[in-house]
Amino acid sequence: MPQYQPYSQIIQLLPVSRMNRYIHDGDNPDITEERKKATFDVDGFTEWYHGGEKRLQARREVEKYIEDHKELQDTHPTPFMSREELIDNSVRKVAGMAKYHEMIDMTNIEKTTYFIQMVHVRDGQAFSLHYLMFLPVLQSQASSEQLSKWMPPAISGTIIGTYAQTEMGHGTNISKLETTATYDPKTQEFVLNTPTVSGAKWWPGSLGKFCNHAIVVANLWTNGRCEGPHPFIVQLRDMDTHKTLPNLKSGDIGPKLGLNGSDNGYLLFDQFRIPRENMLMRHSKVLPDGTYVKPPHSKLAYSGMVFVRSMMVRDIANHLANAVTIATRYSCVRRQGELVPGAGEVKILDYQTQQYRIFPFMAKVIAFRIAGEELQEISKQLKKGEASQLPDIHALSSGLKALVTFEVQRGIEQCRLACGGHGYSHASGIPELLAFSCGSCTYEGDNLVLLLQVAKYLMKVAASESPSTNGICGYLHKKSQSNVSTLSSHKTYSDHQIVQDFEHATRRVVLQAFNKLKTESAMYKSHEAWNRCSVELTKAAKWHIRLYIVRILLLEVSQAPEDIRPVLRTLAKLYIFDLQVSNKGNFMDNRYMTPQQIDELKNGVWEALATIRTDAVSIVDAFAIHEIELKSVLGRRDGNVYPALMEWTKHSHLNKKDVPDAFDKYLKPIMEKIRAKM
Ligand SMILES: Cc1cc2nc3c(=O)[nH]c(=O)nc-3n(C[C@H](O)[C@H](O)[C@H](O)COP(=O)(O)OP(=O)(O)OC[C@H]3O[C@@H](n4cnc5c(N)ncnc54)[C@H](O)[C@@H]3O)c2cc1C
Repeated sequence: MPQYQPYSQIIQLLPVSRMNRYIHDGDNPDITEERKKATFDVDGFTEWYHGGEKRLQARREVEKYIEDHKELQDTHPTPFMSREELIDNSVRKVAGMAKYHEMIDMTNIEKTTYFIQMVHVRDGQAFSLHYLMFLPVLQSQASSEQLSKWMPPAISGTIIGTYAQTEMGHGTNISKLETTATYDPKTQEFVLNTPTVSGAKWWPGSLGKFCNHAIVVANLWTNGRCEGPHPFIVQLRDMDTHKTLPNLKSGDIGPKLGLNGSDNGYLLFDQFRIPRENMLMRHSKVLPDGTYVKPPHSKLAYSGMVFVRSMMVRDIANHLANAVTIATRYSCVRRQGELVPGAGEVKILDYQTQQYRIFPFMAKVIAFRIAGEELQEISKQLKKGEASQLPDIHALSSGLKALVTFEVQRGIEQCRLACGGHGYSHASGIPELLAFSCGSCTYEGDNLVLLLQVAKYLMKVAASESPSTNGICGYLHKKSQSNVSTLSSHKTYSDHQIVQDFEHATRRVVLQAFNKLKTESAMYKSHEAWNRCSVELTKAAKWHIRLYIVRILLLEVSQAPEDIRPVLRTLAKLYIFDLQVSNKGNFMDNRYMTPQQIDELKNGVWEALATIRTDAVSIVDAFAIHEIELKSVLGRRDGNVYPALMEWTKHSHLNKKDVPDAFDKYLKPIMEKIRAKM
């Protein structure tokens, strides 16, 4: 395990005036040199990044608590554990968490989730779905009577829940879920049934062995009519023996690319009965006589999903922050090759190509985090029952989830490449981050499917006969102020000009997709026309989300504290210019931008890379990722990577013996035979 110096000790040892207080005696001089160059106050950045002093303080309390409670930490690095050991380790920590339940505070979801995240990091665990899905869905879908019944045991941890929607045969198209919940008015019960093997619930986290309840999504039948998929709370295991209840079959689905500390599972129902009151009835209801009552607003049931996605966007941006921290710190202690022949080997971060590999993703950490924070604020408004903006926001949350998880996965892979061979080793911590981010592109909605949903909404807005020029989609019905971009120099390119140029480019992409769809619809049936336009539609959706991110990023940076604004502005410009240069066709379309203007933006990218180079280590220090969370030999704060890599090998079971058993069992007899014949 990387040895870490508790943050609380580091700050006590250093004079307050230093810009970067992560410097410590015994650190690799190459990383200390970087920290001494900081041009901004790292603590100020950290406070801004984590949403202010109070929220940062709450994080520090969690970190200190976990530093002080060894039983909440891994006994040895998880990549050396077998699947059974991983699960044992994760359940041991879950039990540890239950003992320290004062840290589980449902009135402070952020602190609680950070506590859980610090204990379990990226292994997946028996309670992850409980906190990520079960509780939020219960909160948003249960009536007040249901909340009083289910919330206390769910919070105290006697109920361990999961969210079971996906089936073996269907994940995306939930209208075709095969699990049925048929209402029986005689007994006032629902009968849950799985008619075929493809209707087995498949994938839900901790469904296999550990959860005892689930929110199950099933097609509701009442009075002979199917009312579509609805959520039901279902007890799955005996509360004393933990045995699976009669008429249910469940188990683990086996090892996966990542998250192997979690028992993602399967579940089949055989005419399994639950009381009527177990249908979650905040929005729609089934009355005792079987009458179905529709939700007042058909989309209200989606408000919980918006909240979950807002959490996801912020969390997944944090995974990118981990990878960028690892790649940046490592790139300052790794020396390879010379820039000036004979002048000695340089830090690999001095290569512009290395900077271009890492820094745009450093900028994305900021952009995505801001977008996630903003979405979380919006979702709080929705929870108060404001449904008028729900379609706009639902589309935004779907699109942000898709775009951010795609980009984070791409970014983590770039960080892996930036670490060369060592990036491929679990010692880097990057394979675990990568595996986690791959999963996030699929769960909570396949990314492409989500983008198509966003596009569907955009097409509706584009076709609107009473358009508004306000709100998230307002730009679609605005007129461009000019047919050409007014950019003259990247140095004077104002926020207003940037937003105008992005609005112009986005409007064109969306309206081009809209016009293509109209043309195709004149020739083909609507679903076929849609399919023929779907690649362009997903591109339109991505631009819609990028425009949102650019707007909110510029706004937040302009309001950031003065002393950190310059470094944030450089990062924001890098994000924006890189997007424009990488997608120059969209900006040059119809001669809106000239090749000279694109060259000017390229210059802006190169200049930003050079500026960020000076502060790179201090910026990632300011993300303030604790070493327990980072889990990386390459990204360790002190930069003493090489001795730690050698230390890491001591955990390998193969190194317990000089001659492995497999040699004696298989190779030795063959070699002896060959030798005897010689
Ligand atoms: C790590 C992990 C954890 C999970 N945890 C849970 C959980 O806790 N609870 C739960 O219920 N589920 C869970 N899932 C399941 C997950 O939500 C689904 O896998 C996901 O929604 C995708 O659905 P699918 O598997 O049916 O993919 P499919 O829909 O079969 O997708 C396969 C391909 O088809 C494409 N495709 C599908 N439909 C369309 C369309 N209409 N138009 C264009 N292209 C289309 C997709 O883009 C994709 O490329 C988890 C999955 C993973 C990987």
